[in-house]
Amino acid sequence: MKKAAYELEANVQIVANSLGYKFAEQDLMLSYVGRELLSGKKSVAQQRKYLDLLVKNYPSMAAFGLLDVNGTFLVTSSNIHVPKGANLLTNNTVRYYFEKTLQSNDMVIGKTVFFKPLGRWVIPIRKAIRDDNGNILGVMAGGILNDKNQNFIDQLHLLSKYNILIIKGFDNNGEYYRQYVSTFDSFSEEEIYLSPLQKKNVNQIKHMLYKKYQQSIEDIQNEKTIVSFESASLLGKDQFAGMMYNKKYDLWVVLKQGYKSINEAILRSAAIYSSIYIVLFVLMFWLFKRLASSEVKSKRDLIYQAEHDELTKLPNRKYMYKHIDSWIQSHEQEFYVLYLDLDNFKNINDKFGHTIGDKILQDVARRLLKFFSVSEMIIRQGGDEFIIFLRDIQHVDMDELCRELIETISDIYLVEGNEFRIGMSLGLSCYPKDSRNVNELLSFADTAMYKAKQHKNYYTFFSEEMRHENVLRSDVEHELRAALKNEEIFLMYQPQVDAKGCLVGVEALARWKNRRLGFVSPDIFIEVAEQTGIMDDIGEFIIQKALKEIKEVQESLSVSFSLSLNISVVQFMKNDFLEELMRIVEEEKFDKSCLTLEVTESLSIADFDKIVPLLESIREEGIEISLDDFGTGYSSLSILRKLPLNELKIDKSFIDGIVYDVSERKLVQSIVEIAKNFEMETVAEGVENQEQLEILKELGCNVIQGYYYSKPLTTDQLVQYIKRESND
Ligand code: C2E
Ligand code: CA
Ligand code: CA
Repeated sequence: MKKAAYELEANVQIVANSLGYKFAEQDLMLSYVGRELLSGKKSVAQQRKYLDLLVKNYPSMAAFGLLDVNGTFLVTSSNIHVPKGANLLTNNTVRYYFEKTLQSNDMVIGKTVFFKPLGRWVIPIRKAIRDDNGNILGVMAGGILNDKNQNFIDQLHLLSKYNILIIKGFDNNGEYYRQYVSTFDSFSEEEIYLSPLQKKNVNQIKHMLYKKYQQSIEDIQNEKTIVSFESASLLGKDQFAGMMYNKKYDLWVVLKQGYKSINEAILRSAAIYSSIYIVLFVLMFWLFKRLASSEVKSKRDLIYQAEHDELTKLPNRKYMYKHIDSWIQSHEQEFYVLYLDLDNFKNINDKFGHTIGDKILQDVARRLLKFFSVSEMIIRQGGDEFIIFLRDIQHVDMDELCRELIETISDIYLVEGNEFRIGMSLGLSCYPKDSRNVNELLSFADTAMYKAKQHKNYYTFFSEEMRHENVLRSDVEHELRAALKNEEIFLMYQPQVDAKGCLVGVEALARWKNRRLGFVSPDIFIEVAEQTGIMDDIGEFIIQKALKEIKEVQESLSVSFSLSLNISVVQFMKNDFLEELMRIVEEEKFDKSCLTLEVTESLSIADFDKIVPLLESIREEGIEISLDDFGTGYSSLSILRKLPLNELKIDKSFIDGIVYDVSERKLVQSIVEIAKNFEMETVAEGVENQEQLEILKELGCNVIQGYYYSKPLTTDQLVQYIKRESND
């Protein structure tokens, strides 16, 4: 008797495990299918085709369907016809198991039911399909065939000597129902599946188990133990039943010994079958896992990675281009494109390192996400630039929003115990007012941002004026490409004089007269040339031309004075800049000690480690370095200390005010003093009148340049100027 009980318990375990694996396989399949249906861009027809294929390949499955979280059918396999928009949740029991599904990470098995659309008995299985963040995308459902004639456990070919019974854990009414029976005897499916176990019998079993194991049914459930019992009244004389609970799928697996004695051979073959099944299952599991997790997930991961910025986790440009059309379509109304650029961010990277810079960028991203609602698209455009598509703007005061945004971003950043402040420039364009084309909107917002940059911590809306400028710029670019060849570019020279009014040097200033555009200011065409890669050629031309012309003037008049050349950052940063320069100097036999290079402060925010050695080797050649437009840009005293400079050029904007504005005068005074401390000369540029001149002389400024003495001159005019001066 005891031996029979052991065998029974061992077989309970085998059957329960096989069943557990079987359901786990279904579980995986639903996940895989659900993800496949919900991830790709399949049409409903394609989804249905996919489900039909599954029905064909899984003979144990009756049908498949995909539902939304509200229980409405989205698509089903075509062997069933569910009325459009049919909802599962009208039935209380179904609602109970559906809600369980939404709360569970595992597949949830419903009560065995008669499935009307197919006219067959099925075990419903449902699985919530979630995205990477755990949000439910939909519910994948299937029905396992469970007729008298066909059911999935039959396929295990298990022992005819045992009665197998699967009992579902109690339902919302506290009733136990049969999920499956292997032997119907004379009963119909209705009688077996639709009526609950008799309360009296359930209680009797609970009582017996308690007597035998001193454990409640809940304890037995939790401890995963196999139990067996004998009951003459329930099972007949000398009969056993063994059972085990499967927590994952909330099932009791019950094996009842049949009337005939146990056939050992069959049992053994069942055990072998079961272990083969386990091996097969492990293979299947591995396969599905590979498919489900590696393929689907890694595909999704790859897409995610490709469309998101690694550092801030914000979507990137690729994402933007992929989704912007549907974003616009879903909101075919007014919206704004915001182009956001951090001010002086490069400075932080250079001075404090990229780790700090990265942390600040992450914080900026966090602030943006907090500032805007989820319906806006926030993109990291790259570097320290962000793009935001902002909708629902009817009731928004855009000026206020921009001010608040700037305030939010320019608030203190705390990184590794240090406080940082950065500014932000913001440009905006509006759909459909400015354009209906996304690329244009982006480019317009960018243009507006550049305008804002001139003020810093500022915002600007794209305007009609900017549109004209944009058109002009593209004209400029077009014409500039042929300017050198057409000999349209030439130079003028503006005298620089000392305190006594004697000529000490000239600054070469480029001029461009185009047949179509007329005179174009160097402020414009130099910038365009820099941005379009034309600057290399133009820069080289200017150096060559200036050295040649000035050498001629010096030789013809036997005078010596210095020549200042403006060198743009792009030009300067070219690897062979110095080599190229020295080649021309030698070619023209120009006196190196008469040459000064004017560089701007923006150079100092470029790569410091590269700039300083380059400046030093230039100085070793005997060529001087002048810092142009001093005071307008980013420079700080620390930069002045690091860069080997000979001269500071005080920007015209400071000179303008020195007569009336005491604070401007004080500022210029301190610049002159600082320069003296660092043993640099000072050049005041844009000096237009006597009063300015007197003050500058008083402050101890070394060199004066401006219309007061002379406008930029052609070489002929320069010769006249020098002759006149030496006659005085
Ligand atoms: P910059 O180097 O600051 O040149 C001084 C500008 O101020 C010149 O304008 C000059 O004509 C102007 N200026 C000089 N004195 C006075 C004055 O008393 N009153 C007024 N109102 N203006 C005065 P320009 O020639 O239009 O050049 C503008 C800018 O274009 C230059 O500013 C420089 O940044 C750039 N640039 C000019 N030529 C070249 C060049 O050959 N290479 C490079 N890279 N940049 C150049
Ligand atoms: Ca200059
Ligand atoms: Ca200047």
